[in-house]
Amino acid sequence: MSALAFPQTSTTRRVGDDERASILAAPGFGQHYTDFMARARWTVEGGWGQDEVVPYGPLELSPASAVLHYGQEIFEGLKAFRHADGSVWTFRPEANAERMQRSARRLALPELPAEDFLTSLKAVVAADEPWVPEATSEESLYLRPFMFASEEFLGVRAAHEVDYYVIASPAGPYFPRGVQPLVVWITDEYARAGAGGTGAAKCGGNYASSLLGKREAAENGADEVLFLDSETHTSIDELSGMNVVAITKGGRLLTPSLTGSILEGVTRLSILRLAEDRGLEVLEQKLVMSEVQQQLESGEITEMFACGTAAVINPIGEFRSKEGSWTVGDGGSGEVTLALRKELTDIQYGRIPDRHGWLTRL
Ligand code: PMP
Repeated sequence: MSALAFPQTSTTRRVGDDERASILAAPGFGQHYTDFMARARWTVEGGWGQDEVVPYGPLELSPASAVLHYGQEIFEGLKAFRHADGSVWTFRPEANAERMQRSARRLALPELPAEDFLTSLKAVVAADEPWVPEATSEESLYLRPFMFASEEFLGVRAAHEVDYYVIASPAGPYFPRGVQPLVVWITDEYARAGAGGTGAAKCGGNYASSLLGKREAAENGADEVLFLDSETHTSIDELSGMNVVAITKGGRLLTPSLTGSILEGVTRLSILRLAEDRGLEVLEQKLVMSEVQQQLESGEITEMFACGTAAVINPIGEFRSKEGSWTVGDGGSGEVTLALRKELTDIQYGRIPDRHGWLTRL
């Protein structure tokens, strides 16, 4: 049942036209924020309410807010794309709404109805329309819905008061080098998620626990870290913020199955579909790292890539670990990888027909 309307209660812009134009000329990723944000509050007595769009700005939180102590928090990430006719669209928002509900259940947070999730996105984009980059760029407006335990209470239990926000940030390439093959560090030191844990939920704690792995990767000259399963440290889970896919010489697309410790990416789901449409055989299965390394050496695996909303699809050029390094294909950007990337972004920017009905107008 939909209840929330997110009315805009102030129209005063925070950022002037000139400053906004200069930000949009080179937005980077996650560095600049728009004029407005949506918010709503849930209480155990009254459910969801207090929904509105307000100027973007700092939050006032009690130092005893439960989230600051116990990390009861979840989030989502999706993008708004401008099409050539000026209209603004988003990609499979119902998948993000459902994933946020699954994350909420795992973190004992209240579920936001999918219609309210969509209304909140529409409300922010309507208020922040000048912030959606032009269709001619490969840029977008990144939307970040999130929810956290705002209740002032230090007892350990599911919070009785929860705040939901949507903030927006103009986005260019996620990796400063743009679409260039990534160097990925395989950590045998750290795990991201374990059986029965929160790996399949999009909660802040998962990212906190990935940071040392990312640091280890950077110390070894890598762009990203690959986490293996926490129990045996032998099979591929995912990167800190992206799913992993391999393509074989014979035209098969391999990706780790959803074991409960992997986040089910909307990009992953969409690519599997686009790959099937192209006649590739899609196999979701356990990917044993040592076997993948052998298949990279023998040339059986020709391409690998990382995928997620922020980075879209990014080729992986090399894996490194304490044991050695493995080049993927010729170390460059694979043909199938780039073709899938182009098809996905062409759909998102409205350059080819949306045959799967994945776009929603905002
Ligand atoms: N795995 C993790 C851990 C992530 O944070 C993300 C980004 N949300 C993904 C995978 C990719 O998910 P999506 O394609 O929905 O962005």
